[in-house]
Amino acid sequence: KYKLQELQQLDAAHYLHPFTDHKELRNAGSRMIVRGEGPFIYDSEGTEILDAMAGLWCVNIGYGRDELADVAAEQMREMPYYNSFFKCATPSPVQLSAKIAEIAPPNIEQVFFGSSGSESNDTALRLVRHYWALEGKPEKNIIISRQNAYHGSTVAGASLGGMSHMHKQLGGAVPNIVHVMAPYAYELAEPGESDEAFGLRAARTIEDAILAAGADKVAAFIGEPIMGAGGVKIPPASYWPEVQRICKKYDILLMLDEVITGYGRTGEWFAATTFGIEADTITTAKALTSGYQPLSALLVGERIAKTLVEKGGEFYHGYTYSGHPVCCAVGLKNIEIIEEEGLVDRVRNDTGPYLAEQLAKRIAVHPLVGETRSVGLMGGIEIVKDKADRSRFQPGGSAATKVRDHAIANGLMIRATDDTLIMSPPLIWTRETIDLAFDRLLVALDLAEAELAS
Ligand code: PLP
Repeated sequence: KYKLQELQQLDAAHYLHPFTDHKELRNAGSRMIVRGEGPFIYDSEGTEILDAMAGLWCVNIGYGRDELADVAAEQMREMPYYNSFFKCATPSPVQLSAKIAEIAPPNIEQVFFGSSGSESNDTALRLVRHYWALEGKPEKNIIISRQNAYHGSTVAGASLGGMSHMHKQLGGAVPNIVHVMAPYAYELAEPGESDEAFGLRAARTIEDAILAAGADKVAAFIGEPIMGAGGVKIPPASYWPEVQRICKKYDILLMLDEVITGYGRTGEWFAATTFGIEADTITTAKALTSGYQPLSALLVGERIAKTLVEKGGEFYHGYTYSGHPVCCAVGLKNIEIIEEEGLVDRVRNDTGPYLAEQLAKRIAVHPLVGETRSVGLMGGIEIVKDKADRSRFQPGGSAATKVRDHAIANGLMIRATDDTLIMSPPLIWTRETIDLAFDRLLVALDLAEAELAS
């Protein structure tokens, strides 16, 4: 059905891929992924690959779900599109906003839809500034974020993010965004510093930034509950309570980016619950539709919602596809399936703890592995040269890339970012799927170890 060489030629000639070195792509040629079924994806040559990344942190209910295809087709036939500007609405975004408010933390009242996580963060940035302007404090405008954070690829998303290589290409970031330390103890804790002490120290860099700017100039702090693209960096338990305390003390809004963690990944519907955080905004996307349609939702807490309604006035912001009826119908069905199949509970009570146990038992003991960590079905594996002094093979993560390439060749799709291997599988994974993934990963680790030793 698919002619690989022909597709690769067209691909190299015309398709500008996201986050891709096109010189490398032209030499290597893309692998064509043509089908998915349950936890597996298949390429044009029929190779079966277990997808430990759920696409890109999103396909939570797995591939090949007819229920979502049926609901999309039905909605397209009935009403493919209508806008929700100018006091109009279609039913599915109304129903989905109510459903999200039901499963979200108790303070969440309203939901704003977009098509991507980046758009959702753009909206959140504009909304918190709009909020302070409505409150008569437009000078409260600075957003505090963190080094190595990822908040998307639009200009505002990349400005909010803390990835230096992205900033370099921006040619001028959105002003009034400052970045503080990431809460990553394995690399940034001082010798002898406990995780708890490090967590407090990392949180207090936010307080330092507030004091440096003046609290009357700071609008909000934004953070991923667990940094995802930055390498599944799980903060110490002391971190989030201290961040919350600091935000309350200086009257700073707390913005959570749950584009990765939303809709069950951590064993709760939202990681806000996992970490006990009360956020004023929560950005979500990806698993809202399990990736079957592009859809994001910005969850808005009662503090901002109350001001929007009481003060009135138009928020001059919105997208043609805000509340797209087909995407929202698919989102509703997706949440229904997650509920019916008990996937969030399964992650919390069964597969999440099993993943942590097996990471420790089978993977952490490998000579190339310095640390394993996970929350729910989100895991990171740190590749090191020396377990004792935590030194790396060479900066830039080429050792992790070697493991990744062997893993893919051996039927396991896993991602490498710097020296970290990342896992974020569909929530339909079972203990047996985890065992299969680690059988394949161990082969890849051994092959990479042999190569790195030679
Ligand atoms: N925020 C986080 C935490 C993400 O991981 C991502 C994407 O990976 C985004 C925002 C951007 O989402 P999108 O790629 O849908 O624009």
